[in-house]
Amino acid sequence: MALDCDVLIVGGGPTGVTLAVLLAKRGVSVIVLEKEADIYPLPRAAHIDHEGMRILQETGVAEDVMATSRRVARYDFLNAKGDLLLRFEGSDRIGPGGWPGANMIHQPSVEAALRRALAGEKTATFHSGWELDEFQDNGDFVTAHITTPEGQRTIRSRFLIGADGARSPVRKGAGIRFDDLRFEEPWLVVDMLVDDYSRLPAANLQICNPERPTTCVLMGEGRHRWEFMIKPNETAEQVSDDAFIEQLLEPWNVRGAVRLERKAVYTFRARIAEHWSKGRVLLAGDAAHQTPPFAGQGMCSGLRDAANIAWKLAAVVKGGADVELLKSYQKEREPHLRATIDMAIMMGRMVCTTNKWSALLRDMKFKLGRMLGKLPDGPPAYPPMSEGVLLAGSPDAGRYFPQFLSQNGGRIDEVLGNEHWLIGRDRLNDPALAPFAKQLSQWLDKRDAEAVLVRPDRYVFGTGSNAPLFEAWQKAVAEAPGTGR
Ligand SMILES: Cc1cc2nc3c(=O)[nH]c(=O)nc-3n(C[C@H](O)[C@H](O)[C@H](O)COP(=O)(O)OP(=O)(O)OC[C@H]3O[C@@H](n4cnc5c(N)ncnc54)[C@H](O)[C@@H]3O)c2cc1C
Repeated sequence: MALDCDVLIVGGGPTGVTLAVLLAKRGVSVIVLEKEADIYPLPRAAHIDHEGMRILQETGVAEDVMATSRRVARYDFLNAKGDLLLRFEGSDRIGPGGWPGANMIHQPSVEAALRRALAGEKTATFHSGWELDEFQDNGDFVTAHITTPEGQRTIRSRFLIGADGARSPVRKGAGIRFDDLRFEEPWLVVDMLVDDYSRLPAANLQICNPERPTTCVLMGEGRHRWEFMIKPNETAEQVSDDAFIEQLLEPWNVRGAVRLERKAVYTFRARIAEHWSKGRVLLAGDAAHQTPPFAGQGMCSGLRDAANIAWKLAAVVKGGADVELLKSYQKEREPHLRATIDMAIMMGRMVCTTNKWSALLRDMKFKLGRMLGKLPDGPPAYPPMSEGVLLAGSPDAGRYFPQFLSQNGGRIDEVLGNEHWLIGRDRLNDPALAPFAKQLSQWLDKRDAEAVLVRPDRYVFGTGSNAPLFEAWQKAVAEAPGTGR
């Protein structure tokens, strides 16, 4: 039977569109359905990390995003008196992904850039105003029933991706449940247009004040954000009132420096889908997991999902790899997500403490931790992959491979492209690799390795020497899943 496309993606948010671009760049035919007419306008992501930026680089929008994003060096957690409890520092420096550690953004602008990039891809089509109603997994393909402005349609594809957000009709249709990680707090989020930056904080702040836990963070050019925890006796309507917001902003002394642009009330949650795929249906982004926003990782996690499955879907659809390859997706991504969410919950519990005695105890604990040097001071770090398509027994398998920069600012990904890389010492004199030769040879020296094989999502498959590495990689991808070490 003739199919309409290789991959049908439900959801035109950042995860779905990023995945669509990464697939199209590998020659996969893809259709994206988005039920809304326009990009979601309310306040959401304000931060993308270096790894997210590297993924956006592959889609071709990173320079666009950089042009309007802002850098921030510090993320401080202060108590009600302004004493420092916890600090993450240095996030304005270039991270392992080859971009600054923290890039403060305006999510709709990032999404608009992604949609423009997708429009330039020949094997991709984007439909707004098209809503998935239901689907059937027919074994070798999936049939999706869709409502469009012109009436009902059916689309048949080899795979269906639910990148359809937290409420995910795809997840529900597949009968997949969430593991609830028990974090649930209601917050008001307020985005302001900035007229006078000199009166605003230059660091990202969590004010751990039990009277009113508050977040204040930078955003993309021209905007700044405040978030206020909603008290049990307050309603969403009350706190969203403009006069009430003005009162909440009073202690910041920013009247005349900022103007209200948009506001929204959210319940911050932590949940992970029990299964990230079922038959020919896969979940990605918020459809598969949700994290409270304190670590700024929800959208970044969706981008990582997209990078993880794009090359695998392409290998199956275009390269004849076994469909079992896709089983490695959840194994590789879920532990990373759990660590990310744990970090966000730790931050969230710290901020959302509303009992004054618990807050006092927390302050003492963190102050002591700081004095003893037991608290982090670099940017947050997440664990490597420990199982999946990795070379068994290779100590660096599953670690993130850095994007090296040349002296004139060139990036190694631009030279090596979006497939796997086999980089042996014998290649270091290639003219294309010469600008990175010193960093590459230092990386290999440190591991006492002749070569490294880097997966297309830039995680290390393994180290060793050229021929055995390449052979093991081909076997792992063709025979998948490489179930690890
Ligand atoms: C206050 C707040 C602050 C945040 N801060 C950060 C941050 O700093 N950094 C960060 O990385 N993340 C942050 N996030 C999280 C981030 O916004 C989300 O993780 C991200 O938007 C998820 O992207 P997604 O594409 O997976 O889902 P979504 O953006 O929700 O997109 C899903 C899309 O699917 C569409 N859809 C749903 N059902 C259907 C259907 N039946 N048919 C067709 N289309 C459908 C929806 O209309 C929607 O457009 C924040 C979130 C909030 C609320």
